[in-house]
Amino acid sequence: MRCFECGTKNEYELKEVTRKYEGDGYCFDLTVCVPFCKVCGAPLVDEEIEATIAKQANEKIREQRNIITVEEIQELFRKYNVSQKYLSKLLGWGEITLTRYISGGYTPNQQNSEKLKSLQDPYVVKKMMLDKIEETNGDIEKEHAFQKLNQSVNEQIVKIENSKGKIYQIVNWFLSQAEEDNCITHLALQKLLYFSQGWNYVFNNTCLFNDDCEAWVHGAVYRIIFDEFKKFKFNPLPQMNNRITLSQEEITVLEFVKKYYFNVYTAKTLEKICHLEKPFILAREGVAPDKNSEELIQKAHIQAYYLEIAKQYNISLQNQDNVKLYLNELLYS
Ligand SMILES: [Zn+2]
Repeated sequence: MRCFECGTKNEYELKEVTRKYEGDGYCFDLTVCVPFCKVCGAPLVDEEIEATIAKQANEKIREQRNIITVEEIQELFRKYNVSQKYLSKLLGWGEITLTRYISGGYTPNQQNSEKLKSLQDPYVVKKMMLDKIEETNGDIEKEHAFQKLNQSVNEQIVKIENSKGKIYQIVNWFLSQAEEDNCITHLALQKLLYFSQGWNYVFNNTCLFNDDCEAWVHGAVYRIIFDEFKKFKFNPLPQMNNRITLSQEEITVLEFVKKYYFNVYTAKTLEKICHLEKPFILAREGVAPDKNSEELIQKAHIQAYYLEIAKQYNISLQNQDNVKLYLNELLYS
């Protein structure tokens, strides 16, 4: 190490100094140990020390700007068993973008960081992959790396299903039924869950899943599902592969809801049906229509109401079509 001021070689001492870092979304001091010339006191530059400091500073910047960390990026590769290169490609980034991020020298900007963070959710990755298939007219599906990633993503979704309960099996079944010209949105999904719960009391004599829904301004909402899918806003949800994890009796109920609700009505109309039904009205008693409420729609109310309309309109497994009479009367009379 040579001093550029006085030319002295390898005569230095380490001193603590405080450096100030300030920029878009971050501001902090970092105390670092750097070399100074022993003879004239000029600061010396050691590349290795500077690299370590840069790494430290970048970590801190990420932290303060809530930028994804190196560990979190690496976790994505582990989770989906995908290479840095392939994920970069899918994201439409330069081949070495991700490599730069994890080597620590480069910090993702806010937008790229958020994109990467969103990939922590396998449903988001699934959606990205489906968009990619469309974009390439299916060509990308032939790639081995793509198939491998698809498999890992499906495995991660099954993990969510197993850890968050049966309601996710119902969700994934409905997502497997969506088609290009009949896609499913978060708003519609919430209502389909509610109707499935109701009709399961009629056809199978029991509740379909344990979760309770809340009577929000826009109808019945299962919060655990809201938290997962709100990020998709009004966009179509990703289409899933169909796996049989439910009993035939349960699938019969879901087929029924698909046929008489999902295939017939828009999400807005599904919301309206929910609004007009007694369990929702009871849960929102005394609450103005535009006011938020977290009041639960009682399962007992759902059960009683659906058993009642089944009786009134003679709706049964053998007479499924009669549900049309009920829905028409509810909506249009
Ligand atoms: Zn010097």
